[in-house]
Amino acid sequence: MIRYTGNPYVDAGTAVLELRLQKPCSDFTDGDLASQAEWIKQEYRKKIWRSYLTIHFTNCAWVQHKISPEKEQAYIAKVLESYKSSPLDPRRSCAFCGDPANTVADRSHIPLLTGETVMVAGAGGEPGLPTCGYCLFAIHFYPLATLKVAGRPLFWWAFNPEWIRRLTDRFRRDVDKVLAASTEQFANVDWPSTRLLHAAREVVDGLENVPAGRRPSLGDIIGIHATNLGTQPNYEEIRIPSGLLEFWSEAGTFGPLYRQVEADAWETRERKVRKLRKQQSKAKKAEPPPELVRRNRLFEALGNAFVSSDYRDEAKQIAVRYFLRRSGRYATSGTTALAEFFLEKVAGMEKQRLEAIRQIADLIAEELILGKSGNVRSVEPLFRRRMKLGEFLRWLSQIQRRLSDLGRPLSWDSVLLALDLAGDEDRTAKDFWLVEELVLIRLLERAAKSDVLAELPEPEAVPPETGTTE
Ligand SMILES: [Zn+2]
Repeated sequence: MIRYTGNPYVDAGTAVLELRLQKPCSDFTDGDLASQAEWIKQEYRKKIWRSYLTIHFTNCAWVQHKISPEKEQAYIAKVLESYKSSPLDPRRSCAFCGDPANTVADRSHIPLLTGETVMVAGAGGEPGLPTCGYCLFAIHFYPLATLKVAGRPLFWWAFNPEWIRRLTDRFRRDVDKVLAASTEQFANVDWPSTRLLHAAREVVDGLENVPAGRRPSLGDIIGIHATNLGTQPNYEEIRIPSGLLEFWSEAGTFGPLYRQVEADAWETRERKVRKLRKQQSKAKKAEPPPELVRRNRLFEALGNAFVSSDYRDEAKQIAVRYFLRRSGRYATSGTTALAEFFLEKVAGMEKQRLEAIRQIADLIAEELILGKSGNVRSVEPLFRRRMKLGEFLRWLSQIQRRLSDLGRPLSWDSVLLALDLAGDEDRTAKDFWLVEELVLIRLLERAAKSDVLAELPEPEAVPPETGTTE
């Protein structure tokens, strides 16, 4: 039977079938499969699929113009009806689900395999990949959930089928827009990370309407960007960690702030669309739907970070660039809280440490900026940026003395915790630049409603960089 196997191609195709048939794959009947087979035979004969299917199933019968009716029929019977035939003799297991295989496949049937003539020896001496007819059937529906991004199919996989279904459903609607925009060519779009993260964020948003008990638990989700059109398979995964999904699912509790961060990161529609139209009319290429052409700088930055298995440092840079925002001296209330939540969920920073940073900033704001015996000049070094670690520590120790004089002691232990230092001799605070930035923005946020704000120097802009330790 058709089922989720852990293979991205089989699973994406299974999700498409579930969405089309509006029932779980465990309830599929032979009649359901026959009706879907009839439908897809007609669909894939459309001109728009011909060129696009080449990058899915190299040299498949759907894309060959001069194929004989017999060969075409044999191909279609193999991919859509093998599940009816008896198991291979001698028996071999399906590479995807482990059930008895009924056929052997090559790259014209399944992506990322080699060609029929290239593979001269396979398991059991017969060339090709042993496959059951059900997995092969499902794979033939996966293109319906793929976008053509930078010339390669882009689609979803996750451990939890509920996530595959939701993400695939979202992409399937994008595919419908592409099909509606042109009947000739399947439009190519850009920016895989933007396409993936935008879809994923909308799916996370949609969970709000699902009763709490029925929401799928959050786990990592994976965008797959692959083809074997070239001489060898070209396979890339963009992993989106569950931490980002957790962040998204609660970002709304910080008011409209996150929406604004995301909205401001979109490339302007008009400019992008105009540029694209020009290019495409020159090259006579299909025009993609406008909502699928723009880049989102935040999504691209996150996607680039997730390429590395340890993306925490990169996520800290993103927090500074996109979340710790100010306009001149003005920082909107809640800015630091949102950034802290992002740093906790996506950059893996400990809550305790983030709280220590905020407490230091609040103490400085309350006593030295807003307090009766305030001394705005004492915070100026933080505004003339950027201090090196030694300077930053010296400044904090001066602040500590002033606060102590005012009867509001700042414990040095919390300074060490804020900077993630083991002791006074430790100089490994690699991300002290982030601490400086968090303190600065928090000070501005606290001073935003006060007249003192005008007395503060305007912070100098600094390029995003990690700084030096000495
Ligand atoms: Zn199988």
